[in-house]
Amino acid sequence: MKKSFKIDVDCANCANLVEAEIKKIPGVKDACVVFMTQKMKIEFEEGADPDAVISQAMKAAKKVEPDFCILD
Ligand SMILES: [Zn+2]
Repeated sequence: MKKSFKIDVDCANCANLVEAEIKKIPGVKDACVVFMTQKMKIEFEEGADPDAVISQAMKAAKKVEPDFCILD
């Protein structure tokens, strides 16, 4: 399953850092964070709980980019 989100990220460098952190989360098959379009895509592993993964993704993202947020 894939989901995409509108996000707020301040630069391309932070987007890359956030992407790398999110890829480490169990349950994430692939992730893509794009500064230009302010979008994030997460592909979930089969059987993963998307809500749990997303809340972990938020925590991981805020560690490298405190201003990171998911808008919807
Ligand atoms: Zn930045």
